[in-house]
Amino acid sequence: MESSRPEGKEEAGLRREREALARELAALRAYYEDLLASLQDGVVVVDPDLLVLAFNPAAEELLGRSATFAVGRVLPAVLGPGTLLPALAARALETGRAHAEHGAPLTRPDGGQVWVSAVASLLADAGGKPRGCVLTLRDLTRIRDLEEQLRQADRMAALGALAAGLSHEIRNPLMGVRGAAQLLAGDPALPPAFREHSRIILREVDRLNALVEGILGFARPRPARLLPCNLNQVLEEVLALEEGGLTERGVRVRRLYDPQIPPVQGDAAQLHQVFLNLVRNGAEAMPAGGELTLRTSYERKSPRCRGVSVAVAEVLDQGVGLSAEASAHLFEPFFTTKEKGTGLGLAICQRIVQEHRGVIEVHSDAAKGTCLAVLLPLAGEQA
Ligand code: ADP
Ligand code: MG
Repeated sequence: MESSRPEGKEEAGLRREREALARELAALRAYYEDLLASLQDGVVVVDPDLLVLAFNPAAEELLGRSATFAVGRVLPAVLGPGTLLPALAARALETGRAHAEHGAPLTRPDGGQVWVSAVASLLADAGGKPRGCVLTLRDLTRIRDLEEQLRQADRMAALGALAAGLSHEIRNPLMGVRGAAQLLAGDPALPPAFREHSRIILREVDRLNALVEGILGFARPRPARLLPCNLNQVLEEVLALEEGGLTERGVRVRRLYDPQIPPVQGDAAQLHQVFLNLVRNGAEAMPAGGELTLRTSYERKSPRCRGVSVAVAEVLDQGVGLSAEASAHLFEPFFTTKEKGTGLGLAICQRIVQEHRGVIEVHSDAAKGTCLAVLLPLAGEQA
């Protein structure tokens, strides 16, 4: 037994050396684990048979699988069918060169889709013999979203310029038509049927004019003048204008205000326009009447708005909800499903809210109705 006799000098030296080596190895391993863990990019290491050897936290997050699940399984079994990553790794192992994929869709186990770019590089020993392959993965989802926003902004800018030009050209002749119709409508020498027709012309010209005004306002908005405003007050002012009409149409208004909400940094006139549009849309979604709820609250350091503190105003209706098509095009100018709609309401709302550095969100449910939520940074919160 080793403990029964005293340790020789040489043995003690060897033991100390062994212990020092073990400590060094543990430190080295911890160092490489930290290194992998601190990388923003996902890193997956596989052996020549595609057996997963390492799976860092960024890869766990990106791919929606845990390292405990992944390590020790083959890559195709970890990722499921339909991803290009195993093929990419196999190609790197076969050819001995790095291969890249600049954006491939990947379905996570929760059903969400992410876009990733991937590079597969060969892992070889000192003699050049392949020991496996390293996959580095980068999340492109956010970049794709930004690209889509940019395309949308480009479309809006082009549309805006076109609309502004057209509206201008339309407005002047329209005023001429209006003037002439007004003269005819008031001419006692004309038979009553003529005068009635003139009044129809007048009414329709006014409708066209309102549309043109809307387009002009959208295409060339005046800059927002931001001052502290209270959202409860803004909502009340909108209701003062609208509530009579709503009651007539069988729409009851329910107020769920948080009396404590701090002021937001806003342009009161523009915020009126936002909530007027939302209240009208809510009412129009309930042609048979129903309840329209206006709710306010506030959220400290809201993750829904770049982490700044916001006041939230929601307009909830009990209408039919949004179709898939409406959800996809809701904020696009001229998207409307209404016979007499302009499709400008929500496009204007979104532009104003964005100018306030806020966020507009939509939640819809065919069974319960639709909720439009406007989040606006509190006064003094503008980052
Ligand atoms: P408009 O009201 O003139 O149609 P908007 O931009 O205000 O234009 O709305 C665009 C479209 O979005 C509407 O035609 C409608 O289909 C849909 N929509 C907006 N708000 C709601 C809502 N609260 N419930 C159901 N659909 C809505
Ligand atoms: Mg509308």
